[in-house]
Formats: sequence, C-alpha cells, structure tokens
Amino acid sequence: MTRLRRYCLPFLALLLCAATARAEYLPKAEKVADNVYAIVGPLGQRSAENDGLNANYGFVVTPAGTILIDSGASRLGAKKLDQAMRAVTDQPVRWVVNTGSQDHRWLGNDYFASRGAEIVALRRTAATQAAHAQQQLAGLARFLGPRLADTRPLPAPKPLAAAPATLELGGETLVLMHTDAHYPGDALVHLPRHGIVFSGDLVYVDRLLGVLPGSSVKHGRQAFRALAALKPTRIVPGHGHVCDLAQAQRETGDYYDFLVDKVGAAAQDMEPMDAVLDQHAELPAFRHLENYKDLHRANMNRAFTEFEGQ
Ligand SMILES: [Zn+2]
Repeated sequence: MTRLRRYCLPFLALLLCAATARAEYLPKAEKVADNVYAIVGPLGQRSAENDGLNANYGFVVTPAGTILIDSGASRLGAKKLDQAMRAVTDQPVRWVVNTGSQDHRWLGNDYFASRGAEIVALRRTAATQAAHAQQQLAGLARFLGPRLADTRPLPAPKPLAAAPATLELGGETLVLMHTDAHYPGDALVHLPRHGIVFSGDLVYVDRLLGVLPGSSVKHGRQAFRALAALKPTRIVPGHGHVCDLAQAQRETGDYYDFLVDKVGAAAQDMEPMDAVLDQHAELPAFRHLENYKDLHRANMNRAFTEFEGQ
C-alpha cells in the first residue's frame, strides 16, 4: 500500500494537473465577415476555468482601431479577450461597446479603459450596471474566487443619452438600440453595412434563454420583432453559436411568443399559475435546448408574474 501510494500518488497528481490545465477556457476569434469577428463562449455556468466568459463577444477591426463588443466578467477574463483579439489584429482597442449590464458584459471595462479604450454604452445600460455592480461582484466571487482580484466596475463615464445611437469609427457604422429584455437598459448592436447583429442577451441559441427577476418577456418579444425587421444575414447571439435569423426565430423568437401568448395571456385571464405551468411543462419545440430542464419552469413563472394584473 505504501509503495503503491509512493508511486501512484505523484502520477495521479500529475494527471489531475493536466486535466485542470486542459479545462481552462481560452477564447478564440471566429470570422463572421470581413473585419467582423465573434468570440463564442461556453454555454455553461461561470467558473474559474472560463473566467466568467460564458457568453459571446465580438469585435470589429477598423483602420482607426478595434471596436470590442462587451468586455467579460473580470480583469483576467478581459485579458483573455484581449489576447484573442491580438491573434487577429495589432490594432489597439479604441472602443468597448456594452450591450448590457449582466456581469459578463461589462466588468472587464476597467481593464480596457486602463489601456486607453473609451467605454461606450447607452445611458440606461450604464445606470443598470452601476446599480448591480456590488451584487454582481459578490456573486462572481463565489465562482471565480481569487481570479476575480483587481476587477473594478466601470460603467461608461459618459454614456449616450439618445437611443438608438448611430456611431462611426474608421468607416464602420454601428447602431446601438435598446432591447430591455434580459436586464433593463440592455441593447443590441447592428452593423447595417454587414447585415450583422450582435444581439446581446436578447437572443440565445443552442441553450434556452433565461428570464431573470428583472427581465421582461414583453420587451423581449418587441425587441425580437425589431431585430427581425432589420433582416440580418448573421446574428451573433448573447449565448450559443453564430446563427441566422431562422434559427434565432425558432429558438428565441418563438419562445418569447409562447411566453407572451400562452403564459402571459393566461395570467391576464387570472388562470391559476400552477395549472398553467403544468400544462406547458413539456414543449417539444424547445426541449432539445440546453438548460431547458433547469430554466423552463422558472421562466414561465416570471413571465406569468410580469403579466399578472395587467
Ligand atoms: Zn448573459
């Protein structure tokens, strides 16, 4: 036994180390169009291995500098995004545009600002960020531990007062418009010249979208219709792979419709909530999506509450 321990334990430790190292998530840029890239993060929960980068990001390379869309959940996460951009371009990050106020959308702002980037966000996005900052850091600490060190919340110091907002840099045009779906003040970024939308947390594919206590499925449905009217050829969703409008419609748009037309309508008709949730517990159209088992009932519950008494 002693001999076994003496020889096997170091070997086991080595194996474990190798397994841990392999589990570390390193973001990688994928080309969506000329000069436009997506970084598609893992679908699961925040962890020390993924540094809270369990969401999608993107960037646009222009002759005047790079525009990064969303900045990660921590200083180390932001650094990883920076490295993923470095693999594609030497252009410095000029702008960081925030599509939302969930932790992984903006807590890397400070890292890029300290390297000379300007933080760009709509005023309501920045206000929600400021309101949630401390709570988000506390929540992240449980997942990231010491890897959250030196992460400082920095909402855009000079947020944009008017929405939608049209911005130009190095010949690229970005339109930033509110969606207000996942968090109040959330936004999407439209690149009209490319027919590309970075949807922020409005669109989820491959996994079921999450309705949080502050989310609005009513706004989500409206915003999804506004997105569809833009007729994008490619969508970089908030979570899941880069997709087309048809997939976004099937996996997000149709689900917002369901939440509003079935669950919301039943709430307005004052039907008993439990019966409504039971009735729609099995939805074949969405059951294949990741997180369905964990989120579907809670999503319906929150949609019901949003429409109650309306
Ligand atoms: Zn998210």
